Amino acid sequence: MNGAWTGSSETFDLVNPASGDVIGHVPRASKEHVDAAVEVARKAFDAPIWRDMEQTKRGKILLQIAALMREHFEEISKLETLNQGKPIRESKGDVAWAIRAFEYWGGAADKIQGETIPVTANRVTYTLREPLGVTAHIIPWNYPLALAVRSLAPALAAGNTVVAKPAELTPLTLLRVAEFAQKSGLPDGVFNVVTGSGAVAGRALVSNSHVDGITFTGSTDTGAHIMEDAAKNVTPVLLELGGKNPNIVFPDADLKRAVQMAKYAIFTNAGQMCWAGSRLFLHEEIYEKFLEELKKQTESLRIGPGLEEKTELGPMVSKEQQERVMGYIRSGTEEGAKLIIGGQPPDDLALRNGFFLKPTIFTDVKPTMKIAREEIFGPVLTVFRFSTVEDVIRMANETQFGLYAGVWTNDLKLAHRVVREIQAGVVAVNDYLVAYPQTPFGGYKDSGIGYESGLQAVNHYTRIKSVTMNTS
Ligand code: NDP
Repeated sequence: MNGAWTGSSETFDLVNPASGDVIGHVPRASKEHVDAAVEVARKAFDAPIWRDMEQTKRGKILLQIAALMREHFEEISKLETLNQGKPIRESKGDVAWAIRAFEYWGGAADKIQGETIPVTANRVTYTLREPLGVTAHIIPWNYPLALAVRSLAPALAAGNTVVAKPAELTPLTLLRVAEFAQKSGLPDGVFNVVTGSGAVAGRALVSNSHVDGITFTGSTDTGAHIMEDAAKNVTPVLLELGGKNPNIVFPDADLKRAVQMAKYAIFTNAGQMCWAGSRLFLHEEIYEKFLEELKKQTESLRIGPGLEEKTELGPMVSKEQQERVMGYIRSGTEEGAKLIIGGQPPDDLALRNGFFLKPTIFTDVKPTMKIAREEIFGPVLTVFRFSTVEDVIRMANETQFGLYAGVWTNDLKLAHRVVREIQAGVVAVNDYLVAYPQTPFGGYKDSGIGYESGLQAVNHYTRIKSVTMNTS
C-alpha cells in the first residue's frame, strides 16, 4: 500500500494444498486497512503523476513489469504452484500469459484514444477517453496471477490507480508482482494490494464510495452480492462469473484430438475453472468408442504434487473445496448418474494430507440433476449422448450459464450454425481452453457482464467525455 508493506494485528495462514502444510502468514486486512488503501489510491490518482504521464511512458513501465516477471519466471511459477496447487507446467503457462498481458497493455497504452465526430461545418466534436479513477479488483483463487493481471494491466494502461484483493487462499504471486511494479517506476499509491477475506476486505472494497469501477471474477452468487453493494454507489461492475460449459463432439471431428482435449478441458487445474468443459456432449455414433478412449486416458493421468514435473493432475485448492466437490459426487450418485471412474481421493498414502481427488466421470446424467446444473469446480465430468444437432443445441443451452463452449466438427456449415446458436460469450471450434490477452472474454446469461481482454476491455476502465466546439 502506497509503495510500502503494511502489517495488521491479525494474520491468516497460507497452506500448501499438496501437503496441508502451512507455508506462510499474511496480514488480514480490516475495513480500515481497505479504506486507507482506497484513500491512498485516490490521492495517487488526483496527484496526478500517473494519470497525466505521457501514455508511451506509462506503457514502458508496464513493459518493465513484464520484463521483471520474465526474469523471475521460474520463481513466480513455483510460488503459484506452492500456493494454489496446480501442476507446475500449468503455472508456467499462467505466468507466461500474465507477462503477455502486461506486454499487450504496455503496447496498447498509447493507443487508447478518442475520436472526432462530424456534426456541422462550424462545430468540431471530439471525444476524450479518460481513466475512471480508482479501480477495485477482486481476484479468485483458480488463476491467482493471470486473472489479476487480466484486469489490472488495462486499468493501469488507461491511467487508473488500483486496489486489488486476491483470494484469501492465494495472495502470494500478486504480492510478488506488486514488488516488481514498484521497482518498475510506478509512482507510490498507484498499485495497492490488500490481503484479507472476501466478507470483510472484499466487501469493504466494493462498498467504498471512492471506488470508481469494480472488476470481479468468481462465483455467480458472490458476483450478485457485489453488484448489490456497488449499486448503492452507482459504481460500474465488470463481472466474469461461473460456467457450466458444453463441449460438443460431432462424429466427423478429429476424434483423437477431441478426446485429448476433452480430458484437458475438464482436468486442467483439477477442473477449478470457470471455462471448464464440464458437460461433454457426444454424438451417439461415436459415444461408446470415444468414452472408452477418454476413460483409458483419464485413468493414466498422473496425480501428484504440482511441483513434481511429471504431475498432470494436482490437488484442489483447499480442504473445503475438496469436500464441496465430494458433496457433488455423492449427489450425482444419489440422483442416479453412473460413476464410471474416480469419485474419491487417490489411494496413494503419500498424498493423504493433500486435497487430491481422482479424476471423475459420470454418464447417464439427466439435465435436471444437480451435477448437470451447478458449477462443480472440480475434476468431475458429466457426459451426455445426442443424436441431432437441434437436440444438442437445446441441451447445451439448457443452463443458467453461458460462458464458454467447444464445438468439434470439420463441417464448416455445421460449425457456423452451432457457433451462431450456442448461448456463450466465447466459443472454440476444434479447440478448447484458448484465450489470449487480445481476445475478448466474457459471459452470456448468469456468466457475467462485460468483456475482459482485447482492446475493447479498456472501455470498462475509461469514460468518454464528449466535447463540442463552436468554431464560427
Ligand atoms: P467467491 O466467488 O466467493 O470468491 C471469489 C473472490 O471474491 C475471492 O477473492 C473472495 O475472497 C471474494 N469475495 C467473496 N465474497 C465477497 C464479497 N461479499 N465482496 C467482495 N469480495 C468477495 O468464490 P469461493 O472462493 O467462495 O468459491 C466457491 C465457488 O465459487 C467455487 O466452488 C466455484 O464454483 C465458484 N468460483 C468460480 C470462479 C470463476 O472463475 N468463475 C472462481 C472462484 C470460485 P476470499 O476468497 O478471500 O473470501
